[in-house]
Amino acid sequence: MQPAESAQPIDGKSLDAFLAQAAALIRRSGGAVALTGAGASTESGVPDFRGKNGLWSRFDPLEYGTIGAFRRDPVKVWAMLTELLAIVGVEPNEGHRAMADMERRGWLHGIITQNIDGLHQKAGSRTVVEFHGSLATFSCTSCGQKVSLAKVRSGPLPPRCRCGTVLKPDLIFFDEVIPPLALRQTEELLARAKVLIVAGTSCRVVPASLIPHRFRENGGAVIELNLEPALAPDADIVLQGSFSQIMGRLAAALP
Ligand SMILES: [Zn+2]
Repeated sequence: MQPAESAQPIDGKSLDAFLAQAAALIRRSGGAVALTGAGASTESGVPDFRGKNGLWSRFDPLEYGTIGAFRRDPVKVWAMLTELLAIVGVEPNEGHRAMADMERRGWLHGIITQNIDGLHQKAGSRTVVEFHGSLATFSCTSCGQKVSLAKVRSGPLPPRCRCGTVLKPDLIFFDEVIPPLALRQTEELLARAKVLIVAGTSCRVVPASLIPHRFRENGGAVIELNLEPALAPDADIVLQGSFSQIMGRLAAALP
């Protein structure tokens, strides 16, 4: 398949034209895969952790965001994790639902998400690779015991394993490697698609940030969907706007 008609985002064309172009590209390719980030969740009320007054402006990532910090003082790191747990109650938005709908109709083969909030699954998406882990389960670093989110929420924080060790959420701290299973599932998804929809992420965090560039190098086309587009020159089509609105219109433009 040819990459998108234009290698650069085109000036002077309306969003409608870009949406039609994106939908045509997805149709011709037989279905896309997607990479999502924080921007997908902001409309659900999940704060941008990197934004002003975000989690990482109040908690030094070196002191609260590394596995070394957790090993040194897990109770201290749980001050940050307790705030993170507050996002668990949020609901998916129209954008999440549009993506689940696209998957049901065969236009989306799967989602690679950098988000840990579980909102894609909550919206009904079935093939979701959680690149940075999630808050769905917690593990004991001493005995390996796994504990569900429901159990953690029903007890005192920080949660402890039966063996007494403070539990660690099954998410990836900044200095941890991406789990091999997530990497393999990502490769499998990317290998079977010719179109990648990059939505709600400015792709600043490695290694997820390398995915669009590599995908294009391998001959695929990238559709960027962002409030503030950031991917150029690695985007073939840029859809500028809110995640929920644009994803909803993209889904509606597909048969
Ligand atoms: Zn234990």
